[in-house]
Amino acid sequence: MLEITNQDKFGKVIADAIAKVELTVTDNQTKARWINAISKAAAQIEENGVFMTWQSETKSLLIWSQESNEIYSSNGVCSCPAFKRGFACWHRAAARLVRLYNEPQAEEMNNAPYLKPTIERKAERVGGIRIN
Ligand SMILES: [Zn+2]
Repeated sequence: MLEITNQDKFGKVIADAIAKVELTVTDNQTKARWINAISKAAAQIEENGVFMTWQSETKSLLIWSQESNEIYSSNGVCSCPAFKRGFACWHRAAARLVRLYNEPQAEEMNNAPYLKPTIERKAERVGGIRIN
C-alpha cells in the first residue's frame, strides 16, 4: 500500500514532472501522451494507492491494475501492454513520481545534519603539504 503523506511535496513532484516534459520533449504527440500519463498517474496514486507497493531495493512500483486484473512492475520499463507497443504508460509515470517523492529534496539534503561541516576550516599548508 502506497500512502502519500506529504501532499505539498507530492504536488511539487508532479509539477516538476510536467515542467520537465514541457521542456525536454519536442514531439507534440509524445508530449501530450506523457502529460496525460502523469495526470493519470497522479490521480491513480491518490485514489488507488492501496493497490500499489513501492519496492525500494529495485526502485520499482508494483501496480495491481483494476482494468486488467494483472500486476505490473514498473520503473524505467513496464510489463503492461501499452509499454510493449512502445507507448507512454501511466505506470511508468507513477513509478517515476513515487521514486522522486521518496527521494530527499535538495533543501532536505542541505538540512541533513550529517552533511553539515562541524567547523569552518581553511586548508593549510606546511612545507608544501596540505594538512587539512
Ligand atoms: Zn505500463
